[in-house]
Amino acid sequence: MPDAYLALGGNVGDSRAILDRAVRMLDDSKDITVTARSSDYLTPPWGMTDQPPFVNLCLAIETALTPHQLLERTQAVERALGRDRLAETRWGPRTCDIDILAYDDLTLSDRDLTLPHPLMFERAFVLVPLAEIAGGKVIAGKRIDDAARQIDGAGIQKLPAQ
Ligand code: ATP
Ligand code: CA
Ligand code: CA
Repeated sequence: MPDAYLALGGNVGDSRAILDRAVRMLDDSKDITVTARSSDYLTPPWGMTDQPPFVNLCLAIETALTPHQLLERTQAVERALGRDRLAETRWGPRTCDIDILAYDDLTLSDRDLTLPHPLMFERAFVLVPLAEIAGGKVIAGKRIDDAARQIDGAGIQKLPAQ
């Protein structure tokens, strides 16, 4: 079955509880099995810095869904958890964002989906949790643990399991 990597984040409401629900909804969802989950991390906001810190985590999944079906499913989970894209600013506060980082070794870019995620190698809040569950994985020719070591992870804090 194809494997994929997801990045989850949020900074509105009780983010750890909301992301935990998102993980459970994905795992309970037909044709998706969560195979690994990183710790939760508290991370400084990126892109739009004048907002509260985020909680971020990454997942490895196996899925029988196509990439576009997976995008629809992750967006349905975002909506179920109260995300309202129309009320948001880019990279601003949100309850739950789920990005698809990679899907098998697929490279694609269309109106709705770009894989691997084009900004993942610029984001310590993605690379640090991803390295915890997929350090040896190579995406777009780069080893994740090398990329995580090379990026500035200042301010990123691993949260204790709860
Ligand atoms: P960023 O993608 O830079 O992290 P964002 O997560 O804030 O920004 P969203 O508003 O969540 O952006 O999504 C905007 C659109 O990005 C979505 O409607 C989706 O169609 C598209 N998109 C393209 N590639 C991906 C991907 N790999 N994972 C998730 N969404 C993607
Ligand atoms: Ca995002
Ligand atoms: Ca997104």
